[in-house]
Amino acid sequence: MAKKEFKAESKRLLDLMINSIYTHREIFLREIISNASDAIDKLCYRSLTDEKVGLKREDFAIHIHADPDGRTLTVSDNGIGMDESELENNLGIIASSGTYQFRQEVDSEDVDIIGQFGVGFYSAFMVADHITVVTKKYGADQAFRWESDGADGYTITPCERDGVGTDIIMHIKPDGEEENYAEFLQEYTLRNLVKKYSDYIRWPIRMEVTKSRKKEDSPEDKPEYESYREVETLNSMVPLWQRKKSDVTREEHDKFYQEKFNDFTPPQSVITVSAEGQVSYKALLYIPARPPYDYYSADYERGLQLYSAGVMIMDRCQDLIGDHFGFVKGVVDSPDLSLNISRELLQHDRQLKLIANNIEKKVKGELERMLKEDREGYEKFFQNFGRQLKVGCLNGYGAKRDLLQDLLLFYSSTEKKLVTLAEYVDRMPESQKYIYYASGENAAAMDNLPQTELLRERNMEILYLTDQPDQLLMEILREYKDKPLRSAVDGDLDLEDMPEEKGADAYKEALDFIKEVLGEEVDEVRVSRKLKTHPVCLTCGEGVSFEMERYFAAAQPEMGLKAKRILELNVEHPAFAALEGARSAEPEKAKKYAQVLLNQAKLIAGLPIGDPSGYTDLLCSLWT
Ligand code: ADP
Ligand code: MG
Repeated sequence: MAKKEFKAESKRLLDLMINSIYTHREIFLREIISNASDAIDKLCYRSLTDEKVGLKREDFAIHIHADPDGRTLTVSDNGIGMDESELENNLGIIASSGTYQFRQEVDSEDVDIIGQFGVGFYSAFMVADHITVVTKKYGADQAFRWESDGADGYTITPCERDGVGTDIIMHIKPDGEEENYAEFLQEYTLRNLVKKYSDYIRWPIRMEVTKSRKKEDSPEDKPEYESYREVETLNSMVPLWQRKKSDVTREEHDKFYQEKFNDFTPPQSVITVSAEGQVSYKALLYIPARPPYDYYSADYERGLQLYSAGVMIMDRCQDLIGDHFGFVKGVVDSPDLSLNISRELLQHDRQLKLIANNIEKKVKGELERMLKEDREGYEKFFQNFGRQLKVGCLNGYGAKRDLLQDLLLFYSSTEKKLVTLAEYVDRMPESQKYIYYASGENAAAMDNLPQTELLRERNMEILYLTDQPDQLLMEILREYKDKPLRSAVDGDLDLEDMPEEKGADAYKEALDFIKEVLGEEVDEVRVSRKLKTHPVCLTCGEGVSFEMERYFAAAQPEMGLKAKRILELNVEHPAFAALEGARSAEPEKAKKYAQVLLNQAKLIAGLPIGDPSGYTDLLCSLWT
């Protein structure tokens, strides 16, 4: 019978496993047990609607059997099993749990990372030199045997097996000079490993163990002992979320989260919910300390794991958590859910909606708590998922804005740090009507923006927007606590005491001259009331902003959305005086000045200047 090769990427991970001198190789047992538990979950779920399964909840179990003489360790389950093609697909190709992709991202030498997250079936090759899988799928007549020595492929052959389920038979490697593999055949080690890594598994993990008891006929004062064998359940089975909140340590949470959600970093926040009332449920929610590698991609699937009275019904239930909090991981267990309906129907379950609303409140509550009590932590969170909150505000035309707007952070020009809208409003002097913002590449560039000169001179706070969704966000939010949001760049600042209008009439001729020179390039030329030391800027007035023009030029160019272009001039600037002086004496030069000023203004507004080499030629021509 021909051996089949592993797929290339699986092979590389296999090599890594086989040659690993990894100290945490003990995690293989956790991986094998977790697969067995998943398989039982699946069959148990099936048994709710399919009487032919013929098993009750208490019939399901995982068995561990060590044979020190034969040097094998066997983990058996009576779960769903695999058919031939599943064997091929599931054990011949690395699981799609993202493990492999993740491994590519981390330094390939850094083998230690393996133990931190689920690495799956292959991890058994860290301790075994030969693995046999005997499995029979629920509903199938034929069982199959999968066998492999690791590196050079595997074989699949038909075989016999009593009943449905899977045996993973690991032939343990010989002991080396420094490595002791025989420990994985010892009762003591196995018992500890189950306790350490798999205690919360909801199915009994059983093993026949040696115990000792007093011999019945031995005298009380001189007792004699005998040993006997007995099957014992090694794990306590109570899932973490069913335990009292105060009984679960942070370490237990970290371990649970990391194993369950394949993250090598402990979560930043843990939220425990135990709700009773309209609907009873328990939930453990986690806010990751860093975004999953695919978080901001279309591949990322949000959702919470859903259980009904301890039976897993759905791995990623999207109806339990909205996109805006899509980063939250966790489990929800409710005895109230109607189990016997199909998954599709379940999605419309009223109870599910109640739970989802409740969870949304809990998550918001935790974020508000962090914001108040752990600002540094919150900023870290915001760095990871702030963009998600912003996009959440934008989606559905601001349907979630009331929920999310208090959680947003923006960089403040005066505080020189991230602030909330509430903090901004609290600081506003009575006379200030608006929350001002400006957008640009970075804070340093915005500190030099001519358009914000007046505000900065008066030491008024400006929110600096540097993130891509920010500008649109402002359009959606429009106001916060009755204070309208207003761009400090685009139009009129509408300050209570604007500087005097510097007699537009007196400059009418000059303004007309410039408008004529620039023609269609600008919609209006006016005397600026906000420039202080800079000569010129472009504003767009109400309506479409430059930022939006840029955004739509990229996203929907066919719309041809264009901002108005208003050229504002600082008539007290020497540049303006030079233009004025040249206007009658050297009109050609004056025209060039006007062109230069427009291009300067475009550069500052972040607009393309169209003909860069024409512009440099123009500049240089002024020297001659
Ligand atoms: P993961 O558990 O992340 O999917 P694994 O490498 O641990 O990745 O397992 C690969 C796949 O092999 C599982 O998804 C499952 O389909 C199958 N499998 C492994 N062990 C068992 C088992 N005991 N019973 C049924 N299927 C199993
Ligand atoms: Mg697994």
